[in-house]
Amino acid sequence: MAVKFADRMENLKASEIRELLKLTEKPEVISFAGGLPAPELFPVEEMKEVAIKVLEEGGKQALQYAATEGFIPLRKAIANRMNTKFKTDVSYEDILITSGSQQGLDFSGKIFLNEGDVVLCESPSYLGALNAFKAYGPKFIEVPTDENGMIMEELEKILDTTENVKMIYVIPDFQNPTGRTWPMERRKKFMEIINKYEVPVIEDNPYGELRFEGEILPSLKAMDEKGLVIFLGSFSKIFCPGFRIGWVAASKKILEKYIMIKQSADLQTSTIGQREVAKFMEIYDLDKHVEKIKAVYKKRRDLMLQTMKDEFPEGLKYTYPEGGLFTWVELPENINAKDVMAKCLENNVAFVPGGSFFPNGGKENTFRLNYSNMTEERIVEGVKRLAKVLKEVLNK
Ligand code: PMP
Repeated sequence: MAVKFADRMENLKASEIRELLKLTEKPEVISFAGGLPAPELFPVEEMKEVAIKVLEEGGKQALQYAATEGFIPLRKAIANRMNTKFKTDVSYEDILITSGSQQGLDFSGKIFLNEGDVVLCESPSYLGALNAFKAYGPKFIEVPTDENGMIMEELEKILDTTENVKMIYVIPDFQNPTGRTWPMERRKKFMEIINKYEVPVIEDNPYGELRFEGEILPSLKAMDEKGLVIFLGSFSKIFCPGFRIGWVAASKKILEKYIMIKQSADLQTSTIGQREVAKFMEIYDLDKHVEKIKAVYKKRRDLMLQTMKDEFPEGLKYTYPEGGLFTWVELPENINAKDVMAKCLENNVAFVPGGSFFPNGGKENTFRLNYSNMTEERIVEGVKRLAKVLKEVLNK
């Protein structure tokens, strides 16, 4: 075959993780590997009614092309929600609707990265973002983290000594994969550093509203004095991912670039999808829906963490997420989580080995567990199976 692909395809090799994850899809496997929301919480009946209303009230517009920026009532509802929940001060004109926040990640790479440019990210970070950026051939520098997220002294050291840092990608709220959240002090310090070095920041925040205890923290965007923070939001985890509706909130000069790229990528996000989400928010109470999701996930988190505490061998470290979908486990350094995963599959339980969340490799002794997508019964059974394997591996 004489087909020649673009060089960038070299950056996107099929991952062994993806192959491994295929094995987790068998029904007998209790999989903590995915990051899926709980489908039993999707408002199916309500959306039937909403779909009919949208078509009856404005069917022709709903089925027509529309503005690249997105449906104005939806953008207004989003701006309002961001300002209330995350203490920002944005208007609908600062918002572009995207096809999931994943599209915002791809656009960020396209807009900021030339081959060889430097991206800073937390170590570890969200695999889907790293892969989206990889297509543009950057160099990743991982900023060390602790239980409170990115370590600011390390960030400053890197910024001091590195040329050509084009963007910093962060997930300050219930991070994927670790479940960690940056406390207020760190957010403030981060923004002081950003205002000094003036580097664009991609603040990826699909989980911030899913806080099970305490108050939602102000976003980085809320402290953005110089228009450097690009906030990526999403309905995937607070509503349902099937609509593929997310957004970018950014200052005018930056948002213009996203709008241009959006136009050339796919013209606009689905007109009817945007109208349905906006209509749901108009006639139902999204806050109430989010409360329902949080109550269910909190119970699942509690149960997973309690069962881990009861069943896991002594001495393993894992995070205690205050919200979101994930916890993160660290094994002793000489244990490779991929080997543990192979044994787990024999016992019909699965997780995601952590190595691939580090763009430059390393920390193979880690793994991510998801608790949102599994019934309570299966959480207990799955963690017990996992604990049995861990005891065997660790000879405990
Ligand atoms: N960012 C993070 C941190 C995620 O975990 C995800 C989904 N797993 C996304 C972005 C993409 O979400 P979506 O495209 O559905 O909005």
